[in-house]
Amino acid sequence: MKITAVETYLMQVGGPAKGNASAGQYEGGNFGGSRNWLFVRILTDEGIHGVGECSGWPRVIETAVKDLTPLLIGEDPAHIDRLWHKLLASMMGHGMLGTVGGGALTGIEMALWDIKGKALGQPVWNLLGGRFRDRVRVYGHAHDTAKADRLLALGYTGIKVGFTGTVDLDLVASIRDHIGPKVDLMVDAHGPSWMTTQDAIAVGRELESLDILFYEDPVAPEDLDALARVRDAVNVPLAAGERVSTIWGIQPYIERGLVDVIQPDTGRAGGITQMRKMAAMAEGHYITLAPHSGSLGPVAEFAALHVMATIPNALMLERLEFDWEGRDDVITPAPRVVDGHMKVPDAPGLGVDIVIEEILKYPSRRNVREISPDDGTSYALGTAHEVPYFQTRFERRQKLRIHR
Ligand SMILES: [Mg+2]
Repeated sequence: MKITAVETYLMQVGGPAKGNASAGQYEGGNFGGSRNWLFVRILTDEGIHGVGECSGWPRVIETAVKDLTPLLIGEDPAHIDRLWHKLLASMMGHGMLGTVGGGALTGIEMALWDIKGKALGQPVWNLLGGRFRDRVRVYGHAHDTAKADRLLALGYTGIKVGFTGTVDLDLVASIRDHIGPKVDLMVDAHGPSWMTTQDAIAVGRELESLDILFYEDPVAPEDLDALARVRDAVNVPLAAGERVSTIWGIQPYIERGLVDVIQPDTGRAGGITQMRKMAAMAEGHYITLAPHSGSLGPVAEFAALHVMATIPNALMLERLEFDWEGRDDVITPAPRVVDGHMKVPDAPGLGVDIVIEEILKYPSRRNVREISPDDGTSYALGTAHEVPYFQTRFERRQKLRIHR
């Protein structure tokens, strides 16, 4: 079998509600107009094609995939790891992989696994050593008790509270009280640059009494020494790793013992094999894996299900429940959450395909957030948004609500 073409399908996510959406059922989520999905389709001379998804910076990754395509044409898609290393070596001249290189490698590698599965008539999980489980536990996001109730009604047993702008421990406590002790509760601080390491420790100490499954990105993810200080000072499990690619990116989190949970993003971690290798590295340190979803689309979600079926240390899969209403239309079949779990696909390959005519309805417009003078992200002088990634901490006392 030979690869004959690599196609990319880039789309804008969000936008106007579709006619069939029930009012209030979906939360949209176009992330300020910045949300794109990039799907890859690899064709072969035997009529089999594979699909994959790249996340990180999709509009730029599309160019990276096109750049890499000549290296794939004419190759036998069976030799996934060799092709992966061929692409990796070809990018060395660009410096480190970054999220763009990681995303490009990921979508291509995912599609190669899909081809292999279809060619052999086996689901990908069966080619990875068989499965531990036929369904994967998922967790959702809640910013109030009403949203938590919607997740509980679907059988969710894991709920995450994300701090957006304000660290609100009263909110965490109210949701903990509301959902009761049998539902897992997680907190994502999103590595806020306006918090000091001491702030992150103070927040973590407050979380100790709230029975938290993990405290995610308490400090900026680049600051591993700060994460180590939080680790030593706080008696709460920690999670991190959503922004890194490849085993070399996740390595220090694991080998320095900085976290209890690694969170590789299935669209940019480097691919299915890289995720499995990360899981094996984590297994050696009794660390579990809970893949990041973020703004990810539905093809990567299928890939995550295959990986998580095959590893002993799968914790939970993040899921954007009540996402944009077009989500299920761009793929087939549409996945469902039943009793807080997603079924591991049994069809050959990844068990999912993209619906091209639906994707083409949403041409990509932009992939960075719009900055409006009024929305609090305007870089206005004298505010907490003046320098978003290295804050001067003007509003720290207002935003850090640790006195419950
Ligand atoms: Mg996160």
